[in-house]
Parts: sequence; structure tokens; C-alpha cells
Amino acid sequence: MTPPNILRLDAVTKGYSPNLPPAVDQVSLSLREGEILGLLGPSGCGKTTLLRLIAGFERPDRGTLYLGRQPVGGSTWLPPEHRDVGIVFQDYALFPHLTVEKNVAFGLQRRREKGRRQVAQGLSSADIAKHTAAAIALVGLEGLKHRFPHELSGGQQQRVALARALAPRPAIILLDEPFSNLDVQVRLYLRQEVRDILRQVGASGVFVTHDQEEALALADRVAVMNQGRLEQIDVPEVVYGQPASRFVAEFVTQANFLPAQASPQGWQTEVGCFTAASTGAQPAQADLMVRQEDIALAEDAEGAAVVRDRQFLGREYKYCLQTPGGQLIHARLPLDSAIAVGRRVRVTVPSQRVRLYPAVGQPLAETARPNSLSVPLV
Ligand code: ATP
Repeated sequence: MTPPNILRLDAVTKGYSPNLPPAVDQVSLSLREGEILGLLGPSGCGKTTLLRLIAGFERPDRGTLYLGRQPVGGSTWLPPEHRDVGIVFQDYALFPHLTVEKNVAFGLQRRREKGRRQVAQGLSSADIAKHTAAAIALVGLEGLKHRFPHELSGGQQQRVALARALAPRPAIILLDEPFSNLDVQVRLYLRQEVRDILRQVGASGVFVTHDQEEALALADRVAVMNQGRLEQIDVPEVVYGQPASRFVAEFVTQANFLPAQASPQGWQTEVGCFTAASTGAQPAQADLMVRQEDIALAEDAEGAAVVRDRQFLGREYKYCLQTPGGQLIHARLPLDSAIAVGRRVRVTVPSQRVRLYPAVGQPLAETARPNSLSVPLV
């Protein structure tokens, strides 16, 4: 059975200035109970504004927001302090003068004072101490509960922030770029830990990131935003494998786009001719999407592309190839490929991996070389 929606946005729009396009533009989405949703998009696309709308820090201009079945943002308004939502900020936002224990207990005490209906309502001091200890244990900071924030590493501070947000057991946890202030190693293990912790307590969460890998690795579903609009929302495999738009393909997979022209032999590109498997109406021009990891290279003196650069990435090489017209194509190949810079190469891609998008590129050079592939149209 599909779990019920815990959050729903219905055509939510929010602008900061009448002279500018809205920061969030008619966004509709839902979050199921126990689900982790990743909001992914480039800087300025409206991710934080969307999170702030959910938290109640911003009011929508149009559209409605529901927590469970209750409308909370729209004509009916519920202020942030009455929403059953916990927040983890990018900069941790801990109280510097309070210990770990007191930082975590703070949310519970505040809720008790407000006499709200959440788990904290009517909690005795002993209950608060118990919930605080449980939240601190959940994030693995038992030994550090008497420390102050400045006595902790960035990763430890972010765990405190997570414990503080989780302690009152809110219906939804919102995480705004929670790992972006951490170095790569800490970031990698903490994000896995946060995912495990949210799963363990069955929390539903929305986290904001501009890191594709992080969104794909952490989220049950990924919502990709562009200029305030939702371009695609789906499970990571579909967002990566079947991007709904060229923007999603470029942002999420960093794929190459090869301008292609229809011909009786197939799609002519600078690095080969690809046969389209799809039937139906086809445009005269299109761009072929080719992911970096799907490219195979073979040294060939007659090859259409030249290796301009090769970077050693530890587990693989990243090649930069130049086409006759000067376009740069990026490819990732296993270490046994080792083709030297300056060599000519033949480029091939498994037919099922290539997708077609509406053309926005330059006209093709006339030197396309035959190379048979079948191409699904999108
Ligand atoms: P980043 O990843 O850089 O944090 P973002 O995707 O979270 O970006 P938002 O912070 O939501 O994007 O901003 C969306 C747009 O709204 C941007 O153009 C931004 O300049 C604008 N904006 C955000 N907050 C305000 C504000 N308080 N007043 C005016 N404009 C704002």
C-alpha cells in the first residue's frame, strides 16, 4: 500500500519582486510518509525559497500547501512555530552558549512551553531528558553531550543540529544544504549516516542540494528545479536514465550533446552516423545526448575525434575529446583504456544509451563519418 502524503504543494508560487520572475513558480509536488525527497538545482533556482515556504518562513503568493490534509499555506495560514516541522540549516545554527545536551533539549522545552500537540506536549523534565538522551544517542554523540559547539568539529555540530531537529519527532525534517560546509570525507559518511538515521526513525524529509551525486545517493525521489519551476520529479534512476528535459540531462548527468542531422543513413554527427530505432515524426535536426560513461573509444588513425586531455581520477580516466568542428566531448573510461593525448579515436556508444533532444546546437560539419547505432527518441 502506498503511504499517505504527509506534504503536498499545489501550484505554489512565490515571488520577491513584481518586476522579476517568481522564485518559485507553480510548483506541485507531494511527499509520502517516510520518504526522503531531494530538491536539486543550480544556485538561484528557488530551492531554499521552496523549503522556506514549507517551513512557513515565506507565504505563497498563489497556490496551497498542505501538511497531511491540513491546508497551512495559502488562504489558510499556519505560522512556522505551529507546523510540525524540524529544520537543519547549512550553518548548523546552534546556540554557542549552550552545551550539546542543552542545544538538543531546547526544541523540546520550547514545544512544551507552547503546549503543542506534538510528542513534546506535556513532557515532564524527566521525559525531556530521556528524549534528549535518545536523540543524542541516535546521532552517536553520547560522549560529547557536555561540550559546547566551538569544541566540536563541523560534522559533529551538524549531528547536534540533526539531533535537535529530530528530538521532538516532527512529521517532516527539512534540511537546507546540510553537508555543504563539510569537507568531502565527512560529507560522504555523514550523508549516509543521516539517511540511515532518518530511515531508522521513519522520518520524512526534504533536503536541498545543488550536488547531483548527493541528491541521487540520498533521496528516494529527486525533484529537479530550474528557474523556479519543477522540471522533473522521480526516483533517482529515472531522473538519471530518462531526463525529462535537456536541462535535467545537462545538470544531473553532465552529458554531452552532439548536434545531429537527419539523413537517409541515420543521424549524422561530427563523430559518426547513428541510426534511429524510433519510428514516427522526426525533426531534421536534433541533439544526441551521450553520457560520459557510455562512450567507448578505440584508437584509429581515421577516427573523427582527437584526445586533447586525459585526467587520472583514481578509478577511471576522464578524457576530453575534440571534434573536427572544435566541440569538446567528455568521456569516462576504465583505466585499461589509457589512450595518449594527441591520438585520434573512434567514438562509439551502445545504441540504447543514446537519446535525442530538440536541437539548440550549431550546424553540423560536413565531415561526419558513418557509424551505425540505433537511437531512441525522447
Ligand atoms: P542557492 O543554491 O544559491 O542557495 P536557491 O536555489 O536556494 O539558491 P533561492 O535562495 O530560493 O535559490 O533564490 C531564488 C531566487 O530568489 C534568486 O533569484 C534569489 O536572488 C531570489 N531571492 C531569494 N531570497 C530573496 C529575498 N529575500 N528577497 C529578494 N529576492 C530573493
